[in-house]
Amino acid sequence: MNGDPIDSDAIRLGFGVDIGGSGIKGAIVDLETGSLRSERERIATPRPATPGPVAEVVARLVDDHGWNGPLGVTFPGVVRSGCVGTAANLDPEWIGVRADELFGAAVGSDVVVLNDADAAGLAEVRFGAARGRSGVVIVLTFGTGIGSAIINDGVLVPNTELGHLELDGAVAERRAAARIRKKEGLGWKRWAGRVERYLRHLERIFSPEVFVVGGGVSKHSEKWFGYLDVSTEIVPASLANGAGIVGAALAAATPVDRTRARPSGGGGRGR
Ligand code: BGC
Repeated sequence: MNGDPIDSDAIRLGFGVDIGGSGIKGAIVDLETGSLRSERERIATPRPATPGPVAEVVARLVDDHGWNGPLGVTFPGVVRSGCVGTAANLDPEWIGVRADELFGAAVGSDVVVLNDADAAGLAEVRFGAARGRSGVVIVLTFGTGIGSAIINDGVLVPNTELGHLELDGAVAERRAAARIRKKEGLGWKRWAGRVERYLRHLERIFSPEVFVVGGGVSKHSEKWFGYLDVSTEIVPASLANGAGIVGAALAAATPVDRTRARPSGGGGRGR
């Protein structure tokens, strides 16, 4: 945060930015351990959260850390080859925007942009709660919406958007996101009942090995995991607020293989 130049150590460092509905967070990441190597800086998401002002915040975070290497940025919507496809909880002006080019122009370097839950999923499989797990891992982030990442044997299937599955006649995230618990004043038990219904639906479709549950509510897992009766193992995410940042940095450091949880050691950028 003090603008010190990054030394030769930079080779194993990356920088990740996590764009959320209320805050945009960034930090330098140790790509070997998944730990943050700088303070995690948070700047409130501009209102309206349109592309220009958001890009300015991204550039400020990068600048505040004196970073000039590869940059990974998460986005809370579908992102295909750097282009935004949906923005359910941000501003509709984003749809169709080449976010990688927008941020690249703002920071003056190459930028990899990926879905926020996909980034969290990559980080949890590489360094966190699902480290070393094989088979199908489903990472879900409960916040303003429900984000999802499906990772099979370390390989991510991007943009799964499982929070938008229809369940009991409603979009799942409108019934079971963490925001809804507060908005509707639901107790943990009642809300957990909705989450259970949702997890059972996912179980039936994907038969995962494990669910990793992230988002702020994962910090209070003792208050509600006990109410969940599903056959699949459920574990709380372990990287907490840092997962998006870490996953973004990882994706930028291995852009060829950005859908893989482990770098393959392969060559050029290939984008
Ligand atoms: C978006 C997803 C995102 C999730 C969590 C959903 O509304 O559609 O792309 O991952 O919220 O931010």
